[in-house]
Amino acid sequence: MTMTERATALNTPPVPVPTALTEFFWEGVRSGELRILRCQACRYFVHYPRPLCNKCGSTDLAPEQVSGRAVVYSYTWAAQAFHPYFVDRVPYNIAVVELVEQPGLRMTTNVVDCPPQTLRTGMAVEVVFRQVGPDLVLPLFQPDTTGEPVSTQNEEER
Ligand SMILES: [Zn+2]
Repeated sequence: MTMTERATALNTPPVPVPTALTEFFWEGVRSGELRILRCQACRYFVHYPRPLCNKCGSTDLAPEQVSGRAVVYSYTWAAQAFHPYFVDRVPYNIAVVELVEQPGLRMTTNVVDCPPQTLRTGMAVEVVFRQVGPDLVLPLFQPDTTGEPVSTQNEEER
């Protein structure tokens, strides 16, 4: 890869392509809201977006704004760039965070503004919306600034 090609690629991250099922999520992100599908029959949150409630099977799902508060469930460090955009960004973390609204309600993200040595499972984080490309805002997470206690209990799996 030449320097010219690399410089061009660096400012252009891979961009998700919204579908009819995921458009609400990206609209929310552009509005500074984290919206998660919720079953209107049994009130269970469903993420990633899908057409059926994975608890009761209802197709009556609607997006609802959630608090954006979460705890780090798991993470890893990516040391190798799989796309030119990431060449100067490695190592970076890939984290799975569990939203406080429901045990097991998890999303994959990056934890930003967090010194690598302080990133831990169970730490409280909050959503932050970052413009990462010309046409792309992502919901990332930063260490919690509210100081409010966050339950890390997960009766379903712990
Ligand atoms: Zn349901």
